[in-house]
Amino acid sequence: QVRVRFAPSPTGPLHIGGVRTALFNYLFAKKNKGVFYLRIEDTDQNRFVPGAEAYIMEALEWLGIAPSETVGKNEKFGPYRQSERKHLYKQYADQLVHTGWAYYAFDTAEALDTHRKQHEAEGKTFIYNWHNREKLDTSLVISKEETEKRIAAGEDYVIRFKMQKEKEEKTFLNTQDIIRGHVSFDLSLLDDKVLFKSDGMPTYHLANIVDDHLMETTHVIRGEEWLPSLPLHILLYQALGWEAPEFAHLPLILKPIGNGKLSKRDGDKMGFPVFPLEWTDPTTGEKSSGYREKGFFPEAVVNFLALLGWNDGTDQELFTLEELAESFDLTRVHKAGAKFDPEKNKWFNHQYLQKQSDERLVKDFEKILEEKGIQTLLNIRKITTILKERADFVSDLWELSDYFFVAPTTYDEKATKNWKEDTPNLMQQLISVLENISDFTSVNIETVVKDWMTKNEIGMGKVMQPFRLSLVGALKGPHLFDIVELIGKDETIKRLEKAIA
Ligand code: GLU
Repeated sequence: QVRVRFAPSPTGPLHIGGVRTALFNYLFAKKNKGVFYLRIEDTDQNRFVPGAEAYIMEALEWLGIAPSETVGKNEKFGPYRQSERKHLYKQYADQLVHTGWAYYAFDTAEALDTHRKQHEAEGKTFIYNWHNREKLDTSLVISKEETEKRIAAGEDYVIRFKMQKEKEEKTFLNTQDIIRGHVSFDLSLLDDKVLFKSDGMPTYHLANIVDDHLMETTHVIRGEEWLPSLPLHILLYQALGWEAPEFAHLPLILKPIGNGKLSKRDGDKMGFPVFPLEWTDPTTGEKSSGYREKGFFPEAVVNFLALLGWNDGTDQELFTLEELAESFDLTRVHKAGAKFDPEKNKWFNHQYLQKQSDERLVKDFEKILEEKGIQTLLNIRKITTILKERADFVSDLWELSDYFFVAPTTYDEKATKNWKEDTPNLMQQLISVLENISDFTSVNIETVVKDWMTKNEIGMGKVMQPFRLSLVGALKGPHLFDIVELIGKDETIKRLEKAIA
């Protein structure tokens, strides 16, 4: 059975890139009738941020892509928090030392800094590996007895993994990535990574491999930033005698303009969120906006993200979550980075707004009116259906319709050039015409008003533009006679009288 995971570190709110990783895992699991689980990778206590874990869970729930196993839910392979699995990892580090794949290292931070600087002075980069082993303070250089003595004396150590087991000029590791195909790494250029520290904590690498194995992960689908760790991970599986899962590294999400990875700053500059939910930083109190609070539909966010780096090979852009799960195919994920397009993002929300039921839109719109303190007898449903095709967000409905509820107090400067000397007189006549209409419906009002204009040979523009300006305050809005019907006879006349006063 396919088992995939999303394994975030709770170091802050979930970035949109993380959300896409979670989504692709979710879709892959659904497609293969497998399991999507969530593991919290919180071994780095220095980077732990309170509230981040709850945020991640809430975000996935909101998006409709909640895991089927995680903390507090179907804990078949639990615990799902690495901090609660601490006791599991040391034995594997020991095993690796025992089989010669790993070794103790006692170098102090200062010593490592000196090595680095010396190399720099010679125009080289310092790599912590066998090429430098003579200079290093490790159990590969000192005797077994001394190693044991220093550990027993409580000296700080780390356990490092041998990226090359034998001292060789070059060793290549070749492997497959579902998205990238064949990938090759020169191990002689890689550091011997730390697996375990004397504070009793494993590093990300060891904990991640141990847990992916124990939790029976079949596929690792994660961001491209983890590709450099792939050789270490493959070697760890080999060294521990375990079968490795398959790997798929997802392309980066790129800035809308310029080069590089999408960042929170791009969002701040251009006014779009990069987080699913609003987030308040617990230390600085700084607030970051979220998709939910901005009025995005979760379905729209999911649909948009699914197409960042993937398509089904057709022109189809609108997919329900079920349709996505059905057509999802990891081998169709692109290798190149995917540019984040905020306009397209909005476009998806626009599409999903059109798909909402009128009941739901009316309810959401009424909530906004209530917040604005608007009490009204107007037909909200009709206003909603007339205006929704111009709205990207429910909140746009208010900006598009405020004049329905509040009579204009100012009139658009540019439009007043249509206000001629004879306009007040014409508007006065129009008031009389309107007063005599009993069937006050859009179509009928239009017929009667147009008849009056034709009979009296009054040009369209002379009436229609000042009429609109009087009702709306600007030359915008839907069909004029729809507005007239909706606000009603009394209000229409009141606004005309005010405009000519
Ligand atoms: N904890 C890692 C992260 O924060 C997980 C990487 C992986 O999926 O292997 O992204």
